Amino acid sequence: MRRIYLDYAATTPTHPDVVAAMLPYFTENFGNPSTIYSYGQEARGAVEEARTSVAALIGAADEEICFTSGGTESDNYALCGVAFANEDRGNHIITSVIEHHAVLETCKFLETRGFGVTYLPVDKYGLVDPDDVRKAITPRTLIVSVMHANNEVGTIQPLEEISKITHEAGAYFHTDAVQTVGHIPVDVDKLGVDLLSMSAHKLYGPKGIGALYIRKGTRLASFLHGGEQEKGRRAGTENVPGIIGLGKAAEITRAELECEALRLTGIRNKLISGILESIDNTSLNGHPDRRLPNNVNVSINFVEGESILLNLDLEGICASTGSACSSGSLEASHVLLATGCPPPLARGSLRFTMGRGTTEQEVDRVLAVLPGIVARLRAMSPLLKNRG
Ligand SMILES: *Cc1c(COP(=O)(O)O)cnc(C)c1O
Repeated sequence: MRRIYLDYAATTPTHPDVVAAMLPYFTENFGNPSTIYSYGQEARGAVEEARTSVAALIGAADEEICFTSGGTESDNYALCGVAFANEDRGNHIITSVIEHHAVLETCKFLETRGFGVTYLPVDKYGLVDPDDVRKAITPRTLIVSVMHANNEVGTIQPLEEISKITHEAGAYFHTDAVQTVGHIPVDVDKLGVDLLSMSAHKLYGPKGIGALYIRKGTRLASFLHGGEQEKGRRAGTENVPGIIGLGKAAEITRAELECEALRLTGIRNKLISGILESIDNTSLNGHPDRRLPNNVNVSINFVEGESILLNLDLEGICASTGSACSSGSLEASHVLLATGCPPPLARGSLRFTMGRGTTEQEVDRVLAVLPGIVARLRAMSPLLKNRG
């Protein structure tokens, strides 16, 4: 059976050209970029070229890119880095209730270290209201962190308005752009961000490498202490193959982004309308059009999302009930609950996220098997029997 992978928001396959670009840096070009002989300097040159490719993808200057181990580290670094370097100016942080756990748990940690955090609500589409930022912000606010697009429901936030309000109040603006970089246009100046997190494995690069964009002049504490790598911000010998991989992935996605976004939007809309039309008691989660081109998130009433997933898996189809981090637990997604989705409906949610390898035929296959699976599960469902 051919496998149909529809979980690109959890991770993407590494592009073959990315793998090919990385391989020499494990073997013939294994030098340490901090050494002065030519072996090391070849690696240094390649790392700096990758930095240029990453910077170009988001409209940044090379020296504003700091390589990290991925999205989680970038989120931790942005928030802790600003908090600990600016304690003399305040102790307040603003974020939203639908952030990735990498942001939410870092905020919780900072609360134990004397910082106060405001968690902004979202509307039924998962949108943050810029006016809520305006109401919550104070002269003691150090940083506002709102994600670019949500990993579960795909809603794209009005970052330009939020960053403007943030800067007027003199605070820094951070965004977790792990789901958007390489997928939709991201320009740090247009969005008005001071800090931006990205992760290679969400854009056809390898796992365990990412970057934090740090606007020139941002007051940020160092993340790891030791050598002078990454301008002393993140000590430790660079993950050279990973960095080369991220650079190559940035080049590839930059070239393909516009076409891919257009193609995926078509397939996405077909899957959304196909599900809503062929299965009753279903609803779309997230915003109808302010959403990622590759994201479909639907609630299917009277069934558990996990049961559907297991049945889809038997058909060779990989999807998700929410984020990978929350699967394994039957708890409803914090994102769906925040949008006002009732818990039973939230537990019946399904997320399909598409990418380079996704074809229209694959979506046709999902539409061919999903109604039957839902009908079978509903026939056995105690939820349905209790409906009265
Ligand atoms: C995947 C993801 C992360 C975590 O990135 P890692 O590189 O896996 O640590 C953070 N934020 C969002 C929105 C994500 O989708």
